[in-house]
Amino acid sequence: MKDKIIAGKTITEWKNKYPLMNDIMGANEVFWINPKLENFEKAMEKISLNEEDVKDAEARLLRFAPFIEKHFPETYRTNGIIESMIVEINDMKMALEEISGLEIPGMMLLKLDSHLPISGSIKARGGIYEVLKHTEDLALANGLIALDDDYSILAEKKHREFFNRYTIQVGSTGNLGLSIGIMSAKIGYKVIVHMSSDAKKWKKDMLRSKGVTVKEYDSDYSKAVEEGRKLSDADPMSYFVDDENSKDLFLGYSVAAARLKRQLDDLAITVDDEHPLFVYLPCGVGGGPGGAAFGLKLLFKDNVHCFFAEPTHSPCMLIGMMTEKHSDISVFDFGLDNTTEADGLAVGRASGFVGKTMDELLSGIYTVDDEILYVLLSTLINSENIMLEPSACAGLPGPVELIGNEKTLGYLQKHNLEGKMENAAHVVWATGGSMVPDDVMEGYYQKGRSLISKILQEG
Ligand SMILES: *Cc1c(COP(=O)(O)O)cnc(C)c1O
Repeated sequence: MKDKIIAGKTITEWKNKYPLMNDIMGANEVFWINPKLENFEKAMEKISLNEEDVKDAEARLLRFAPFIEKHFPETYRTNGIIESMIVEINDMKMALEEISGLEIPGMMLLKLDSHLPISGSIKARGGIYEVLKHTEDLALANGLIALDDDYSILAEKKHREFFNRYTIQVGSTGNLGLSIGIMSAKIGYKVIVHMSSDAKKWKKDMLRSKGVTVKEYDSDYSKAVEEGRKLSDADPMSYFVDDENSKDLFLGYSVAAARLKRQLDDLAITVDDEHPLFVYLPCGVGGGPGGAAFGLKLLFKDNVHCFFAEPTHSPCMLIGMMTEKHSDISVFDFGLDNTTEADGLAVGRASGFVGKTMDELLSGIYTVDDEILYVLLSTLINSENIMLEPSACAGLPGPVELIGNEKTLGYLQKHNLEGKMENAAHVVWATGGSMVPDDVMEGYYQKGRSLISKILQEG
């Protein structure tokens, strides 16, 4: 490749400054420790969002709970709260130990956002939250409700007709479109979802079946976002959900943390100085993993260690944070193609807002090869009978990546974690999968199985 200039430096200069760039550009799996990780209190000095913002989002979701329960019977059990279970995955842990030849100290758990009600992915947190926030703003401004009303009245016909005068638009690789589309259509809005070419066909079909307009673009996600924003801005009755910069989305995701803490308490899992918590989150544009990690840092401070996982072909957050250029650079600048089967993570340019917010809070990022995602997908089905989509499997190798990496020892020493790993809890965030049609899931499973036998044959 010619030595072109990217954000002020040539490729050679970037490689010299960050030797890891060689492997990143080769689409090899890498493990990066964030050298800027700070202690929690210090890192927070630079961040404008705080605990109050998260509490405000929590309270809003509580106000909407009666409305959600009325519209989505699957949330009856949780009284209209959209929440997932967490389960220990000891058999998967043993399978990972067998595959890697490494022993994973501590316990391994899976946070099943793959099975969140309504839209079956982590987007059922942020995406739905943002639609509800906008709905509350409109409803309050127009005198439809007061803050202490039972919000289930918003399901009445006259209110649906009111919301039908408005449009919601969003650019999406798939799951965000599903969340925004399903919730917006239920409330009564007109909805347009702008989708990238890598979005799965069944996701487009499902949206259309719910009355959502799907516009397809022959290019990647950034283009879909750009076009969607342009069209929405031109229409005063339209609201655009901005996945790249939205604080509301981020806060919607962050509410996950307090709920997770309650679940860990119920399981008698302690998180403190002696019992570290490690969390592994698949990352696309960054809002989902960033929001969840931010919420966790607020609660557990220096005792939680958050790692993002990205596909080797789409490490946008990694190059953004490592170079400190955030959204000013993309994976394309470094010769990568952003082509991955992990459609939820197929993002070439990360959110600058999230990258900057996580700048001193994130412990690190690792990348995963697409084939490995399928191997993990099938292994998880074999060991735990839990079905995830490929994107959602990116967190699964996290504990192995951590334990097996030469850089980890330095990290453990620096954070005074040596000798405490036996007490660790590893939470892998499973971000999507329960909406995948059976035949598509069967195809994923078979693909993973044949890759496993191929690997076994090659030794
Ligand atoms: C969207 C998504 C993610 C990542 O969320 P971002 O906000 O894009 O970083 C991870 N996994 C799945 C399945 C997703 O749909």
